[in-house]
Amino acid sequence: MRRGVHENATAHNLDAIANIGFVIGSAAVAVIDPGGSLSDGERLRRHIRSITKRPIRYVLMSHVHPDHIFGAGAFSIDEPTFIGHANLPRALAQRGEYYRTRLEQVLGSGAAGPIVQPTLLVEERATIELGDRTVELTAHPRAHTDNDLSAFDVQTKTLFASDLLFVNRVPSLDGSLKGWISELAKLGPLGAARAVPGQGPASIDFASAARDLDRYLQALLRETRQAIADGIEIDAAPRSVAIDERGRWALFDEYHGHNVTQAFKELEWE
Ligand SMILES: [Zn+2]
Repeated sequence: MRRGVHENATAHNLDAIANIGFVIGSAAVAVIDPGGSLSDGERLRRHIRSITKRPIRYVLMSHVHPDHIFGAGAFSIDEPTFIGHANLPRALAQRGEYYRTRLEQVLGSGAAGPIVQPTLLVEERATIELGDRTVELTAHPRAHTDNDLSAFDVQTKTLFASDLLFVNRVPSLDGSLKGWISELAKLGPLGAARAVPGQGPASIDFASAARDLDRYLQALLRETRQAIADGIEIDAAPRSVAIDERGRWALFDEYHGHNVTQAFKELEWE
């Protein structure tokens, strides 16, 4: 794994802000998130090539957020199977060009990389074989986004949770609050020996990270419901909902308000 820096995208960090990496089997390599820009992907590819000459047969794209997948173009030369959630093409159609334009504004013209479409879509589950090594893929119902794909390396019991798991950095809700709580609970029984979150440490104990994230999401759920019941307006809700969590997460003030607004929209008609 390559640990992403705890920053927003800049020309200096080349949007290398997410945790990205790869798994090597006896016959092939799988990339598990190709990186945040063409340069980030090229750097990952060079690193893989310095370690193994085995073919890069799979490139997993965990979800539509640009810091995870804009490096995919660096692997086109390998003609791999690009794997995504069944909803990823729609999400790319809606947002891909917007993300690409925004990224080019930060990194410079041509630096973002092309939008790469997945060539294999996962509806529920799929398995990839790397030679004496199996990686199980799960396409999740709406949670962090509506196109989250996680991977589980059976040999090492490593869960590549991507942004279904946030550690230290405040979660960003771009899917469904209730769905995320439910999907997080389902990851526990996999029995992962370690988990790789989308950002933060490259390897963590799943149970404790999941506990922290669940506490935040549950507070968001409970207190947004309370705000709605109390007749608080959507614009005012971020000032009161789950503010006890402020001291526990980096970038809280940048993202928490948006999470409350998202939660409010999801819960106001239930
Ligand atoms: Zn994300």
